[in-house]
Amino acid sequence: MPRVLVVEDDPRIRVSLIEILTEQGHIVRSTGSGFEALREVAQDPFDAVVLDLGLPDLDGGDVLQMMRGISAVPVLVVTARDDEAEIIRVLNAGADDYVVKPFSGGQFVARLSAVLRRTAGAASSCAHHTDGAWRPPAVDLMQPVSVGDLTVDPPARTVHLGDRELRLTRREFDLLSFLAHHAGQVISKQQLLSEVWREPYVDDQTIDVHLSALRRKLGERASAPRYLQTVRGVGIKLTAPR
Ligand code: CA
Repeated sequence: MPRVLVVEDDPRIRVSLIEILTEQGHIVRSTGSGFEALREVAQDPFDAVVLDLGLPDLDGGDVLQMMRGISAVPVLVVTARDDEAEIIRVLNAGADDYVVKPFSGGQFVARLSAVLRRTAGAASSCAHHTDGAWRPPAVDLMQPVSVGDLTVDPPARTVHLGDRELRLTRREFDLLSFLAHHAGQVISKQQLLSEVWREPYVDDQTIDVHLSALRRKLGERASAPRYLQTVRGVGIKLTAPR
């Protein structure tokens, strides 16, 4: 049975989360304090942590960062604000997913189950170092990189999907290469504008047009993504298909 730590200071929400999780057969511990949460994670192995960002003693984002210093435990963030910058910050600080309050029990269970499925046995994967600490991977944009069957070779400026070479425009290549070098991270459109386009007067739609061209060349659709996952209202993430 999965062991889940619930970190939420609002007693009403905490009780309802505990009820939902217990019904799902999870073993639940809970606390309303960020410091207490860190102590719990340092002492006990959990299969997942549900972390409210608005805690009385410590900022939830800081709790997450400190937690990543001691553990690779999957974290589902709960936030009251649908604040894009904040959500990107916590996802890139190592959160696995998020839900925005108010959320339904069904949505919460679905997101937590997805996190548990994705991370099952992954605690020792490459993003996590032998000391258990999580660090963003160092990125050399000129290094060839492979994600699933996709291989991007920046010095040769080639992209292969399996043994098939994809014919990409210069911008499509730069976009795909940037996403592949940051595989697994959510990249905002703002970041793409500054890192890939490097031009101040490009609008969001230009990015969408290039993304949909890339999707077509990768043989996928936004409604059935394989490599290019849209994170609603936040940005885009390239991952290996499951
Ligand atoms: Ca709170």
